[in-house]
Amino acid sequence: MRKNIVAGNWKMNTTVPEGVELAKAVNEAVVAQELKCDVILGVPFTHLTAVKQVIDINKVGLAAENCADHNSGAYTGEVSAPMVASTGANYVILGHSERRGYYNETNEMLKTKVDLALEAGLKVIFCCGESLEEREAGKVEEVIKAEISESLFHLSNEQWANIVIAYEPIWAIGTGKTATSDQAQEVHAFIRNLVAEKYGKQLAEDTTILYGGSCKPSNAQELFAKPDIDGGLIGGASLKANDFMGIVTAF
Ligand code: PEP
Repeated sequence: MRKNIVAGNWKMNTTVPEGVELAKAVNEAVVAQELKCDVILGVPFTHLTAVKQVIDINKVGLAAENCADHNSGAYTGEVSAPMVASTGANYVILGHSERRGYYNETNEMLKTKVDLALEAGLKVIFCCGESLEEREAGKVEEVIKAEISESLFHLSNEQWANIVIAYEPIWAIGTGKTATSDQAQEVHAFIRNLVAEKYGKQLAEDTTILYGGSCKPSNAQELFAKPDIDGGLIGGASLKANDFMGIVTAF
């Protein structure tokens, strides 16, 4: 049975003290109730160690928002997967469209990052998604297929168990413009079929596929009700504990 997950992506927001307060508030709300999904906080590198200290890691997962494509060495300013793992984090978000767009991350580079993350014992939340131009040109499936197959389809069945996919249409990220639940479901079903063709029906059924893009308490329930939408990767709305918990409790 696949897991439902709601993961926050704080991006480059909050100072360490602010982040610690936010994590404490989310942790407090999560431990106080029985939830129908796992909760993960994706936080800046600088926050990982401090946030780890204020969450119950068995109830709230901890993710970095990126890792390097090398394990160590002369790469000034980079943070490697083993470094992330050494903070006690258990996930890393890879391939976010902001990383692909602003920092030129390619499918090939992401393949290396995925390998190093898994080697370091991290689970990967792997993002994919099309731009508005690509959608309008009818290229949604082509883009998603290339992103997933070129960065992930070299993995073994055993490794695949540590992959969560996040479908994030670029035109819906931070724009307030959510994909309709039908638009999202259509792509999620396509992704699950793609995984089934490569890894078989059972592994595909067990794969968690998250939706990301202007998800908020008011639209989460409709999105999560779709058969192939197993939760969300949440940007803006993850910066307020109440909004984030409003999405978590949408299941
Ligand atoms: C994201 O950046 O992963 C995201 C989904 O952002 P937002 O929720 O703000 O659209």
